Amino acid sequence: MKKHIIVFPGDGIGPEVVGQAKKVLVKAAEMGGMDLDMQEFPIGGASIDIYGVPLKDEYLKAAKRADAVLLGAVGGPKWDVVEPSIRPEKALLALRKGLKTYANLRPARPYPALLKASTLKEDVIKDVDILVVRELTGGIYFGRPRGIKEGKKGYNTLVYARKEIERIAKKAFDLAMLRKRHVTSVDKANILETSMFWREIVKGVAAGYPEVRLDHMYVDNCAMQIIRAPGQFDVILTDNMFGDILSDEASMLTGSLGMLPSASIGDRKGLFEPIHGSAPDIAGKGVANPIATIASVAMMLKYSFNRVDLSDVIEGAIERVLEDGLRTKDIDDGTGISVSTEQMGEEIVKRLGRTASQTGSGKV
Ligand code: NAD
Repeated sequence: MKKHIIVFPGDGIGPEVVGQAKKVLVKAAEMGGMDLDMQEFPIGGASIDIYGVPLKDEYLKAAKRADAVLLGAVGGPKWDVVEPSIRPEKALLALRKGLKTYANLRPARPYPALLKASTLKEDVIKDVDILVVRELTGGIYFGRPRGIKEGKKGYNTLVYARKEIERIAKKAFDLAMLRKRHVTSVDKANILETSMFWREIVKGVAAGYPEVRLDHMYVDNCAMQIIRAPGQFDVILTDNMFGDILSDEASMLTGSLGMLPSASIGDRKGLFEPIHGSAPDIAGKGVANPIATIASVAMMLKYSFNRVDLSDVIEGAIERVLEDGLRTKDIDDGTGISVSTEQMGEEIVKRLGRTASQTGSGKV
């Protein structure tokens, strides 16, 4: 059956990296006998320039109807001055909410060829394979009441309903079953009632997964452990705000922002995007690293289309290109072969065929 994908290239380097990811996706789909239909729409600043809003209703509706959504990045100094209600970032919140993608998945696994690119010692990170599962549509980012009162106080509300915790916990345990069967639930249960409640419900969900080991960790300790001994983690399950911070921290174990993909999934839809922003400082120069976006497409094949085989083929091609020494500027320590955004995309496409016959890692 034909898969419908909505593509939002966005701003800055967004269109450059998405262009390469599309090439890889088309080739992988062709190899795997998948029929694709891609439609592209403006989002963020690009949409503000044309329509005066960061995301047209019509395009949000199209995204809701699609099987999966691929996003580049939004924002840039040009739109920092627009009124807050129509800022480019509003489009991201509208998409996440509209698609009901309540689980944000961010893998942090260093590529062997890039172990030296990390700011941490090679032996600390060499066996790292973490998946941060962040709750994405609840918690303090959405709780009400919120606001700033007469210039005297600012306030937000941290609230989680049982249902919200249960569904994200189930997602984390399901994913752990496909990995090393270890979940670390991160909270601040020594201080916050919401966290005490979170802990109780996670324990309840864990009872349905006897093969999975569950630990609880306070968020301050977790922030420290990710740097001290990241190899101890498999799946980190946490709320929206803690997850925002910890997933950035965990992903930096592996080096450049330009390498890191993400998936936001719900019960049916998926939104796939690199974790980096629109990088206005390098936009239009052809130097952006497209690997994060290409790896996001690999996540799409795995999580939205259940094609782990094709996802592995893309992951394998990325590993090959790095082993062969090809480097965009952000990961080039002077010893590699410098390539542009487009060359990196093309070289990955060339290696897809070569990795197809090998068995993939099967990693989630
Ligand atoms: P950024 O991620 O865009 O850039 C941070 C640094 O990393 C820059 O030096 C940039 O050149 C570099 N970088 C990022 N991606 C790269 C890539 N693929 N290849 C090589 N180098 C790369 O973060 P920022 O500078 O804080 O934000 C720039 C704009 O992006 C802002 O408007 C911000 O609001 C927006 N933003 C959007 C998203 C999103 O769309 N999801 C996320 C973060 C920031």
